[in-house]
Amino acid sequence: MSDSCGKADLAAQVVAYLNESLKKSRTPEAGAELKAIEGFEELCAYIQDIKETLLHFSNGDFDHAIKQPGATAGFIKALQSNIRHLAWQCYAVADGDLDQRVEFLGALSKAFNRMTEALVAKQEEILSHQAALTKKTEELQIEIKKKEDMAAALRASEEMYRQRSLRDPRTGLYNRGYFFESVTREIEKIKRQKKAHCCLVMMDIDFFKKFNDTYGHLCGDQVLKMVAVTITGALRKSDILARYGGEEFSLFLANADLDIGTLIAERIRTAVANRPSPAPGSHTPVTVSIGLCHVDSRRLSPSSSGDDLLTNALKLADEALYVAKDRGRNMVWTSSLSEV
Ligand code: GH3
Ligand code: MG
Ligand code: MG
Repeated sequence: MSDSCGKADLAAQVVAYLNESLKKSRTPEAGAELKAIEGFEELCAYIQDIKETLLHFSNGDFDHAIKQPGATAGFIKALQSNIRHLAWQCYAVADGDLDQRVEFLGALSKAFNRMTEALVAKQEEILSHQAALTKKTEELQIEIKKKEDMAAALRASEEMYRQRSLRDPRTGLYNRGYFFESVTREIEKIKRQKKAHCCLVMMDIDFFKKFNDTYGHLCGDQVLKMVAVTITGALRKSDILARYGGEEFSLFLANADLDIGTLIAERIRTAVANRPSPAPGSHTPVTVSIGLCHVDSRRLSPSSSGDDLLTNALKLADEALYVAKDRGRNMVWTSSLSEV
């Protein structure tokens, strides 16, 4: 075989080897003849390294380091570093940095940049929705506050009207309606107890007509207020005082037997009589006559209603008041509610 024939055969072997090495996944084993060619093994190592690196890339691993020098390995390294940088930029976007843009990866750059621009637009849209929602929330909160204020004002005015409906405007004391309602409840409670006491008291200003006629109705009104304040000052918290009508006052004394009731009634009588008269130049004291009816739960029939018991007790207190008037006024007269 001629020398040129031998060289052509060796070149064909080299081509066949490189062809297989590049096109097949498994790298073929080189024979001793090929290995003996100068630079052959170095070229095979180069190809092998590029092959392995590309295999890593195809499996998504861009961290594999290519060891070979030169332009081809350099291109692969550049691609590897671009892709790693792109991954880093994706993380930056995920962390909220929407200013990230890619300039060096062609269609990938275009897609990435389109994505971040779309995210920026969406973010702006969300922010403007958020601002509109915040504004709406604030407006609603103002509206709710207004409504709450209105409801509170309404409750306050309802309470004011309720209080007014319970009270006598001239003296500020409870009115007769409230007196009946609240004292009926108290008597119902007493009725249910084995041993409980209370007193019902009627009080009437003495010679009030004459006072009005002499000093005028305005001065008479002052007397009414003065008597109301004086009686209130002689009472305990649990007692219920009302303007019964005209110059008459009714009083419920809680937990008061006949002795305590009489004591309090006397205290009221002397307190009123000792107050200087509001009439200019008058030295005649304003006085009240008082009729008291003592109620003892042991003498009450369970079948009687609180309503009836109260009406009877007030009737007896009123009768006692008339005895006090008959006997000279400025006086306390007592009676007791017998079995009803
Ligand atoms: P007595 O000692 O018997 O109770 O004599 P009196 O004059 O107090 O009784 P009478 O029932 O004759 O008169 C009550 C007077 O009370 C008549 C009425 O004009 C007066 N009076 C009733 N309500 C008011 C009021 O709100 N203001 C004033 N100034 N007078 C009133
Ligand atoms: Mg009267
Ligand atoms: Mg009177």
